[in-house]
Amino acid sequence: MSKELTTLLSRDQIHDRIKEMGAQITADYQGQQVHLICILKGASLFLADLARAIDLPVSLDFMAVSSYGKGTKTTGEVRITKDLDAAIQNMNVIIVEDIVDTGLTLNYLRGLLENRGPRSVKIATLLDKPSRRIQPVTVEYVGFTIPDAFVVGYGLDYAERYRNLRDVCVLDPTATSAGA
Ligand code: 5GP
Repeated sequence: MSKELTTLLSRDQIHDRIKEMGAQITADYQGQQVHLICILKGASLFLADLARAIDLPVSLDFMAVSSYGKGTKTTGEVRITKDLDAAIQNMNVIIVEDIVDTGLTLNYLRGLLENRGPRSVKIATLLDKPSRRIQPVTVEYVGFTIPDAFVVGYGLDYAERYRNLRDVCVLDPTATSAGA
Protein backbone atom coordinates (compact mmCIF):
# COMPACT_ATOMS: atom_id res chain seq x y z
CA MET A 1 0.00 0.00 0.00
CA SER A 2 1.43 3.39 -0.97
CA LYS A 3 2.01 6.08 1.63
CA GLU A 4 -0.87 8.31 0.51
CA LEU A 5 -3.49 5.62 1.22
CA THR A 6 -4.88 4.47 4.56
CA THR A 7 -7.40 1.63 4.62
CA LEU A 8 -10.78 2.71 5.99
CA LEU A 9 -12.88 -0.33 5.02
CA SER A 10 -11.33 -3.66 4.15
CA ARG A 11 -12.49 -5.85 1.30
CA ASP A 12 -13.88 -8.34 3.84
CA GLN A 13 -15.90 -5.68 5.64
CA ILE A 14 -17.26 -4.45 2.30
CA HIS A 15 -18.11 -7.96 1.16
CA ASP A 16 -19.91 -8.83 4.41
CA ARG A 17 -21.91 -5.59 4.48
CA ILE A 18 -23.03 -5.94 0.85
CA LYS A 19 -24.24 -9.46 1.61
CA GLU A 20 -26.38 -7.99 4.40
CA MET A 21 -27.69 -5.22 2.15
CA GLY A 22 -28.62 -7.76 -0.52
CA ALA A 23 -30.47 -9.87 2.05
CA GLN A 24 -32.35 -6.79 3.27
CA ILE A 25 -33.39 -5.83 -0.27
CA THR A 26 -34.40 -9.43 -0.97
CA ALA A 27 -36.63 -9.42 2.12
CA ASP A 28 -38.13 -5.98 1.39
CA TYR A 29 -39.15 -6.83 -2.20
CA GLN A 30 -40.18 -10.48 -1.69
CA GLY A 31 -42.14 -11.75 -4.73
CA GLN A 32 -41.25 -8.69 -6.80
CA GLN A 33 -38.65 -7.64 -9.34
CA VAL A 34 -36.12 -4.83 -8.79
CA HIS A 35 -34.51 -2.54 -11.35
CA LEU A 36 -31.04 -1.39 -10.29
CA ILE A 37 -29.87 1.91 -11.76
CA CYS A 38 -26.12 2.31 -11.41
CA ILE A 39 -24.72 5.83 -11.30
CA LEU A 40 -21.49 5.65 -13.33
CA LYS A 41 -18.67 5.32 -12.88
CA GLY A 42 -18.08 5.16 -9.14
CA ALA A 43 -20.93 2.77 -8.29
CA SER A 44 -20.06 0.17 -10.92
CA LEU A 45 -18.14 -2.17 -8.61
CA PHE A 46 -20.75 -1.85 -5.87
CA LEU A 47 -23.50 -2.60 -8.40
CA ALA A 48 -21.75 -5.76 -9.56
CA ASP A 49 -21.51 -7.12 -6.01
CA LEU A 50 -24.90 -5.87 -4.80
CA ALA A 51 -26.75 -7.35 -7.79
CA ARG A 52 -25.27 -10.77 -7.01
CA ALA A 53 -26.27 -10.47 -3.35
CA ILE A 54 -29.96 -10.01 -4.23
CA ASP A 55 -31.99 -13.19 -4.57
CA LEU A 56 -34.79 -11.79 -6.75
CA PRO A 57 -35.32 -11.14 -10.48
CA VAL A 58 -33.03 -8.16 -11.13
CA SER A 59 -32.63 -5.90 -14.17
CA LEU A 60 -29.95 -3.27 -14.65
CA ASP A 61 -29.57 0.13 -16.27
CA PHE A 62 -26.89 2.81 -16.13
CA MET A 63 -26.84 6.57 -15.87
CA ALA A 64 -23.98 9.06 -15.78
CA VAL A 65 -24.15 12.56 -14.33
CA SER A 66 -21.84 15.44 -13.71
CA SER A 67 -22.43 18.15 -11.15
CA TYR A 68 -21.85 21.81 -11.79
CA GLY A 69 -19.78 23.77 -9.29
CA LYS A 70 -19.67 20.99 -6.75
CA GLY A 71 -18.61 22.19 -3.32
CA THR A 72 -19.08 25.84 -4.18
CA LYS A 73 -22.68 26.15 -5.43
CA THR A 74 -25.79 24.90 -3.71
CA THR A 75 -28.05 24.89 -6.74
CA GLY A 76 -28.06 21.11 -7.02
CA GLU A 77 -27.92 21.43 -10.77
CA VAL A 78 -26.85 18.13 -12.26
CA ARG A 79 -26.16 17.39 -15.91
CA ILE A 80 -27.11 13.98 -17.31
CA THR A 81 -24.24 12.80 -19.51
CA LYS A 82 -25.75 9.36 -20.13
CA ASP A 83 -29.45 8.72 -19.70
CA LEU A 84 -31.15 5.38 -19.09
CA ASP A 85 -31.55 3.01 -22.03
CA ALA A 86 -35.16 2.11 -21.17
CA ALA A 87 -38.31 3.48 -19.52
CA ILE A 88 -38.88 2.70 -15.83
CA GLN A 89 -42.69 2.80 -15.70
CA ASN A 90 -44.16 0.54 -12.99
CA MET A 91 -40.73 -0.67 -11.94
CA ASN A 92 -39.26 -0.95 -8.45
CA VAL A 93 -36.25 1.29 -9.01
CA ILE A 94 -33.23 1.23 -6.70
CA ILE A 95 -30.67 3.93 -7.45
CA VAL A 96 -27.22 2.48 -6.75
CA GLU A 97 -24.67 5.14 -5.77
CA ASP A 98 -21.12 4.99 -4.44
CA ILE A 99 -21.26 7.81 -1.89
CA VAL A 100 -23.68 10.47 -0.66
CA ASP A 101 -21.86 13.65 0.18
CA THR A 102 -23.73 16.96 -0.10
CA GLY A 103 -26.88 15.11 -1.23
CA LEU A 104 -27.33 17.34 -4.27
CA THR A 105 -26.85 14.60 -6.86
CA LEU A 106 -29.24 12.11 -5.31
CA ASN A 107 -31.90 14.69 -4.54
CA TYR A 108 -31.92 15.69 -8.16
CA LEU A 109 -31.88 12.12 -9.46
CA ARG A 110 -34.64 10.90 -7.18
CA GLY A 111 -36.92 13.72 -8.36
CA LEU A 112 -36.04 13.11 -11.99
CA LEU A 113 -36.73 9.37 -11.81
CA GLU A 114 -39.90 9.73 -9.71
CA ASN A 115 -41.33 11.83 -12.55
CA ARG A 116 -40.96 8.92 -14.97
CA GLY A 117 -43.72 6.83 -13.42
CA PRO A 118 -41.93 4.03 -11.56
CA ARG A 119 -43.80 1.97 -8.96
CA SER A 120 -41.23 3.00 -6.34
CA VAL A 121 -37.82 4.64 -6.03
CA LYS A 122 -35.34 3.81 -3.29
CA ILE A 123 -31.64 4.57 -2.91
CA ALA A 124 -28.78 2.24 -2.01
CA THR A 125 -25.37 3.77 -1.33
CA LEU A 126 -22.20 2.06 -0.24
CA LEU A 127 -20.97 5.09 1.70
CA ASP A 128 -22.59 8.04 3.43
CA LYS A 129 -20.86 11.21 4.65
CA PRO A 130 -23.72 12.86 6.56
CA SER A 131 -21.51 15.62 8.00
CA ARG A 132 -21.25 17.19 4.53
CA ARG A 133 -24.97 17.25 3.72
CA ILE A 134 -26.36 20.42 2.10
CA GLN A 135 -29.71 18.95 1.04
CA PRO A 136 -31.47 16.28 3.11
CA VAL A 137 -31.95 13.05 1.22
CA THR A 138 -33.64 9.86 2.33
CA VAL A 139 -31.33 6.91 1.72
CA GLU A 140 -33.01 3.59 2.39
CA TYR A 141 -29.93 1.36 2.23
CA VAL A 142 -26.58 2.62 3.56
CA GLY A 143 -23.52 0.40 3.60
CA PHE A 144 -21.27 2.44 5.87
CA THR A 145 -21.47 5.87 7.46
CA ILE A 146 -18.01 7.43 7.25
CA PRO A 147 -16.34 10.60 8.54
CA ASP A 148 -15.58 13.61 6.36
CA ALA A 149 -12.53 12.38 4.47
CA PHE A 150 -11.81 11.97 0.77
CA VAL A 151 -11.95 8.27 -0.02
CA VAL A 152 -10.93 6.21 -3.02
CA GLY A 153 -11.08 2.58 -4.06
CA TYR A 154 -13.80 0.03 -4.76
CA GLY A 155 -14.99 2.18 -7.68
CA LEU A 156 -14.22 5.60 -6.24
CA ASP A 157 -11.49 7.61 -7.97
CA TYR A 158 -9.18 10.53 -7.67
CA ALA A 159 -8.54 11.88 -11.19
CA GLU A 160 -9.67 8.46 -12.53
CA ARG A 161 -7.12 6.58 -10.41
CA TYR A 162 -7.63 4.05 -7.63
CA ARG A 163 -11.03 2.68 -8.80
CA ASN A 164 -9.57 -0.83 -8.83
CA LEU A 165 -8.43 -0.86 -5.19
CA ARG A 166 -10.22 -3.63 -3.36
CA ASP A 167 -10.42 -1.68 -0.09
CA VAL A 168 -11.92 1.76 0.52
CA CYS A 169 -9.03 4.02 1.52
CA VAL A 170 -8.58 7.57 2.71
CA LEU A 171 -6.41 9.52 0.29
CA ASP A 172 -3.98 12.05 1.67
CA PRO A 173 -3.80 14.59 -1.17
CA THR A 174 -0.60 16.13 0.17
CA ALA A 175 1.20 12.80 -0.22
CA THR A 176 0.21 12.06 -3.82
CA SER A 177 1.34 13.28 -7.21
CA ALA A 178 -1.78 11.81 -8.87
CA GLY A 179 -3.38 15.15 -9.61
CA ALA A 180 -0.22 17.13 -10.19
P1 5GP B 1 -23.07 14.82 -3.77
O1 5GP B 1 -23.75 13.95 -2.74
O2 5GP B 1 -22.17 15.83 -3.15
O3 5GP B 1 -24.01 15.42 -4.74
O4 5GP B 1 -22.13 13.99 -4.70
C1 5GP B 1 -21.78 12.69 -4.55
C2 5GP B 1 -20.67 12.43 -5.55
O5 5GP B 1 -19.49 13.17 -5.19
C3 5GP B 1 -20.26 10.99 -5.53
O6 5GP B 1 -21.00 10.23 -6.45
C4 5GP B 1 -18.79 11.07 -5.88
O7 5GP B 1 -18.66 11.09 -7.30
C5 5GP B 1 -18.33 12.40 -5.35
N1 5GP B 1 -17.69 12.25 -4.03
C6 5GP B 1 -18.13 12.72 -2.85
N2 5GP B 1 -17.30 12.40 -1.85
C7 5GP B 1 -16.30 11.68 -2.41
C8 5GP B 1 -15.13 11.04 -1.87
O8 5GP B 1 -14.82 11.04 -0.67
N3 5GP B 1 -14.35 10.39 -2.77
C9 5GP B 1 -14.62 10.32 -4.10
N4 5GP B 1 -13.78 9.65 -4.87
N5 5GP B 1 -15.72 10.92 -4.63
C10 5GP B 1 -16.55 11.59 -3.80
